[in-house]
Amino acid sequence: MVAEVIVDILTDELDRVFDYECDDTVTLGCRVLVPFGNRKVEGYVIGLKSASDRDIKPIIKCLDEYPAIIPEMLDLMRFMVDRYHVRLMDALRLFVPNKLRGGKVKPQFSRICRLNDAISVEEMISSLKKGANAQIGCLKELSQAGSMDMSVLNSRYRGAVRALMERGYVLVDSVEKNREPIANLIADKEVLLKPSQQRAYDEFISGDREEYLLHGVTGSGKTEVYMHTIRHYLDLGKNAIMLVPEISLTPQILGLFRSRFGGDVAILHSGLSDGERYDEWRRIITGKARIVVGARSAIFAPIKNIGVIIIDEEHDSSYVSESNPRYTTIEVARFRREKNNAVLISGSATPDITRYSEALSGQIRLVEMKERVNGKVLPKMEIVDMSRELRLGNVGVFSVAMKEALRECIDSGNQAMIFINRRGYASFMMCRKCGYVAKCMDCDVSLTYHSTEEMLKCHYCGKRYRALTNCPECGAEEIRQGRTGTEKVVEELKCMFPSVSILRMDNDTVSGKDSHGRILGDFRNRKAQILVGTQMIAKGHDFPSVTLVGILDADLSLYMSDYRSSERTYQLVTQVAGRAGRDSLAGRVILQTYAPKHYVFRYAQDYDYLGFYKKESNSRQVSMYPPYTTIVRVLVSSQDDQKSMDVSRRLYREIKLMENISPDLFVYLGAMRSPVKRIQKRYRYQILMRLTNAGYTKILRDIYTLVDSLKEKDVNVFVETNPTNLN
Ligand code: ADP
Ligand code: ZN
Repeated sequence: MVAEVIVDILTDELDRVFDYECDDTVTLGCRVLVPFGNRKVEGYVIGLKSASDRDIKPIIKCLDEYPAIIPEMLDLMRFMVDRYHVRLMDALRLFVPNKLRGGKVKPQFSRICRLNDAISVEEMISSLKKGANAQIGCLKELSQAGSMDMSVLNSRYRGAVRALMERGYVLVDSVEKNREPIANLIADKEVLLKPSQQRAYDEFISGDREEYLLHGVTGSGKTEVYMHTIRHYLDLGKNAIMLVPEISLTPQILGLFRSRFGGDVAILHSGLSDGERYDEWRRIITGKARIVVGARSAIFAPIKNIGVIIIDEEHDSSYVSESNPRYTTIEVARFRREKNNAVLISGSATPDITRYSEALSGQIRLVEMKERVNGKVLPKMEIVDMSRELRLGNVGVFSVAMKEALRECIDSGNQAMIFINRRGYASFMMCRKCGYVAKCMDCDVSLTYHSTEEMLKCHYCGKRYRALTNCPECGAEEIRQGRTGTEKVVEELKCMFPSVSILRMDNDTVSGKDSHGRILGDFRNRKAQILVGTQMIAKGHDFPSVTLVGILDADLSLYMSDYRSSERTYQLVTQVAGRAGRDSLAGRVILQTYAPKHYVFRYAQDYDYLGFYKKESNSRQVSMYPPYTTIVRVLVSSQDDQKSMDVSRRLYREIKLMENISPDLFVYLGAMRSPVKRIQKRYRYQILMRLTNAGYTKILRDIYTLVDSLKEKDVNVFVETNPTNLN
């Protein structure tokens, strides 16, 4: 037989099939060792055939006792190559734990001793020499325990085990050890679903193997519905994948799944050691684990016979991989749903605009849960105008209303969360008096401030503007750029409440492996009354005694140079607000902004997702943004500026020719330097275009072909769909 092998070397030239001779122990998906030039390299068998038209060498050996790539993933590999223009090997590497490659991790085995039950213990003991106390002790202990780890016995009865093995009295089994990621079990009670949960659950198990969008308000009990649905499909003999944004993979949620489903659960997240990751992967591929809970990349788990795939917080931007290999989780999930004839559920309180439009148009099914489990209304949201505070002489971080609410919350013994919006990390310029923010005249997106050049730039069209010294609207000189720091907030809080304990959570404080969980745990156990944090505290946490949520700089995320900035802001505000009043106590939200009249806050205040959706989707239609079109960026980069420019110009010329004959393509920015001209020593140029949705798939393929044909050494070309970052 002949195996078609992809070798594990990442270069464009070698990213193709090589033929090797093999016997019938080699199956599809096997990881193998093959001769390559004068080296031995690893590779994967992606095809088998009866003959080759070349002179071929034999495979040296198979590296695992089962195929590392399941058949479905070979199809997925082809899909990803076609869809994302990644190399075959890029895709394959996503499917196996990093350290499996090169044999850097191996399963660990324990040696477990037991007695040979063909002979009674009494007989064994009487056959031993008198005074062989170690052996006698060992036999007695083992007969009581049934089985014991060899290393334990060895430490107690030096030399005895070996002697007893030689006599055939003690037998040894090799048992695979699992480095199981820790998850603290939590007290779990199986609950009865509330009516709206039950309706959702009934849909998901109706037998229609479809795709659903679960739109459930914060606190509507989505997790419980997911777990019931998973249970249903497990009972049918099927398996499940549940994806959660990395940031919400808290000890709480992991503990919950472990408690409910025990050893059936495998957990995959970035905090695992290589050994743990490998063991979890092995438990999945060998069928020992039947539910995978993990972040984005868990969608590639080698799990067979999937009954349900769940994407929680589906709107979260972490589901799109920005770096190479770039992929969109929902598309991969759809591919696997179809292959397995499974149910796919995307859940959110604030669905992605594109997803919701698909639901309204009937492409996927919409399921709604409008009430909170506790029967309470959503927390009341007050909007505070910060430019008014400024006019009244308050230059601090907190508004008067926020200070009063904090005091009230603290005095009544409850907990508060203060959320600092850091979303718009790119710098912008804004008038503190009237809230004016500099925008591009052509693109209706906020301009980004480049301090080195003292310029404002539009990241969509490349237009440049002078930096502001005073406001073009009201003339004021109070121009602000940048954001409020976490430390500053904590400092002011300490002044106001010297005796109250405060926790802080941001990128600086959660560097350690478990610090994220520890901070949340401390807050849950009420070791602090106030938690201050960034995006990290926005999602999925359920703290019963939080009655106040404060949002600082709510408008910051409006000024990202991204057509999704309103959507992101709406999602963020709603998610954070949803942390308040989740138990029996009523909640309250105070939102501080310089743009109190912005429609995002109006709709967020009323929890009117549909209203927001209509407004937002209307403006997307008018300005021709997704979901009504698709934006594609071709990014060319090289350490050689000239080469980078040449390639981008050639690409541009060819794409222009395509544009001339296609009504589905509109190039609106051609071969210009990117707003950030150089990253990691590479000079960057970009071409931006708009595609109609109808023409997208075909044109994208043409662009990939074009990119391949114009490829040059040392020049990278990266094609992105609906990029979130246009730097
Ligand atoms: P969501 O993800 O929709 O914001 P959660 O899944 O976090 O909501 O649920 C909110 C709270 O309600 C959790 O503490 C959960 O344990 C509880 N809960 C969910 N369903 C029920 C139910 N049917 N009965 C009682 N409590 C429930
Ligand atoms: Zn512009």
